[in-house]
Amino acid sequence: MTISVLSVASEAVPLIKTGGLADVVGALPAAVAPHGVAMTTMVPGYPAVMRAIGKGAGKGRTIHSYPSLMGEPARLITAKLGDHPLVVLDAPGFFAREGGPYADPAGHDWADNWRRFAAFGRAAADLAGGGTKRRPFDILHAHDWQAAMAPAYLRFAPSDAAHIPATVMTIHNIAFQGYFGAGIFPQLGLPDAAWSMHGVEYHGGVGFLKAGLEAASAITTVSPRYAAEILDPHYGMGLQGVILARENRVHGIVNGIDTMIWNPESDPYIAAPYGLRTLDRRIADKRALETEFGLEPGDGPLFVAISRLTWQKGMDVLPEILDHLAGLGGRLALLGAGEAAIESGLHAAAARHPGRIGIRIGYDEPLAHRMQAGGDAILVPSRFEPCGLTQLYALAYGCVPVVARTGGLADTVIDANIAAIAAGTATGIQFDGIDYHALRSAISRTVALYHQPDLWRTIQRNGMKCDFSWGRSGAAYAGLYARLLSEKS
Ligand code: ADP
Repeated sequence: MTISVLSVASEAVPLIKTGGLADVVGALPAAVAPHGVAMTTMVPGYPAVMRAIGKGAGKGRTIHSYPSLMGEPARLITAKLGDHPLVVLDAPGFFAREGGPYADPAGHDWADNWRRFAAFGRAAADLAGGGTKRRPFDILHAHDWQAAMAPAYLRFAPSDAAHIPATVMTIHNIAFQGYFGAGIFPQLGLPDAAWSMHGVEYHGGVGFLKAGLEAASAITTVSPRYAAEILDPHYGMGLQGVILARENRVHGIVNGIDTMIWNPESDPYIAAPYGLRTLDRRIADKRALETEFGLEPGDGPLFVAISRLTWQKGMDVLPEILDHLAGLGGRLALLGAGEAAIESGLHAAAARHPGRIGIRIGYDEPLAHRMQAGGDAILVPSRFEPCGLTQLYALAYGCVPVVARTGGLADTVIDANIAAIAAGTATGIQFDGIDYHALRSAISRTVALYHQPDLWRTIQRNGMKCDFSWGRSGAAYAGLYARLLSEKS
C-alpha cells in the first residue's frame, strides 16, 4: 500500500532557499519514494516560486480557490518539484512581494507573518484533510513554525472530521518559534478550546511551533543528539517542557544529503571533478578558489566557511581568531551574510591580512560548491546545530570539517583523537565551547594534522566514504509514517 504524504514547508530546493530546511524538503520526496511513500510538497507562492514553476500567475492547474483565505483571495495550483508533485499556495496579497520569504528587503520581519503562515497552515490542513474535494492525504508532515499551524487546524478545526490525517511536526531549528501576541487569536479561525495550555496559547501569546508540537501525532528533529538536547532549557529555548511532556513521541532522524546535487565527481560548478581515487585532482579546485578569492598560495591549509553570519553559527567569534589562523600559515575564504557587526569584523580582519583572508558577503550557491571542492577544511563553530548540512557536504567533498561538539555536528563528525586515528575512523576535528580559546586550539590542531599529509589524506578519505545519502533517513521517515497509520487503524 502506498502512503500519501503532504509535506508542508516554507522553502524547498530548487525553488526557494534560505537554509538547510530547503535542502531537506527538496530531497525528501525522492528519499521516501523507494519505501512506498508518495509525497506531495506544498510551498507558498513567493515570486521566485511562481517564476520558477514557469507558469506565471495565470497558468498552473488550479485545484482549489478561496474567495478569501484569512482576508486574501487565494488558490492552490499544482506543479512539479523535480519528478514529484508540488502544490503552491498562490495568494498574491501574502506572498507576491520582493524581499525574503520572511523579511522585507531591509531585513525586517513582515508584520503580517502570522497571517501569511496561518493562511498557509489553514490551506495545507484543508488540502490534506479533504477540504478541497481532493482525496485526503494519509499524513501531513509540517516543517518548522511556518507550517506548524497545519496540525493545529487539523486538530481543532478540521475541514472534514471524517478525514483527519496523522501529522508529523519536524523541528529544523527550535530557535525560530513563530510567537505572536494574543490579539491575533480571534483572527485565526480557531474555536475557543484551542486557547489552552495544550493548544496554541504560549506564555500569554500564540506560539505557532508550540501549537504544532502539541497537536502533532509525532515530533521529529533532525539529529538524535539534538532530540536529546532540546529537552534541556539551554537548547529547548522555552519549549523544553512541551517536548518533555511528549518525549515518547519524539524521534531524531538525521538529515541526508542529495547526492545528485552534492557529488564532487559530477558537480557542474567545480573546476576539476574528482572522487575518492582521484583526490589529487582536487588541487586544481583549490587553486581556482584561491584565485577567485584573491588569496596567495601557501603551505598552510585553506580554511573555508559558508554560513549565515549569526550568533548561532558562532560567527561572532571568528573575526578575533583570524590573526591566529593567519599567523599559523592558514588562509580563509568565507562566504556568508547576516549581522552587520560580524560582517565588519570580518572585513577588518581581511584588511589586516590581504592575500590570506578573503570575504564574500552574499548568498551564492555555485560558489558554495566551489568552496567545498577547493577548501582543505571548513569551520563550523555553531553554538547549537540541529543537524547541519555544510559539514555533511564537506565530508562528501573531502573538505575536513572542524566543528563544535553539538547537535548534528557531534552526531556526524568523528574527532581525530588518538583512538580514532589509531582505529582509522577519524573524519574531522571537534571542539567544545565557542570562545576564542576553544577555536584557537581547534585551528592549531587542524594545522598540525594538515602538516601530516598521509594522515590528512586518510581523514579526507574517511569522510568521503561516509554514507550520508538519504537511504537510511528516507527509510526512517517512511517507517514513522507507517507506524502512525497503523496506530490510527
Ligand atoms: P542552516 O540551515 O541553519 O543555515 P545548514 O548547515 O543546515 O544550516 O544549511 C545551510 C545551507 O545553506 C547549506 O546548504 C549551505 O551550503 C548553505 N549556505 C549557507 N550560507 C550560504 C551562502 N552565503 N551562500 C550559499 N549557500 C549558503
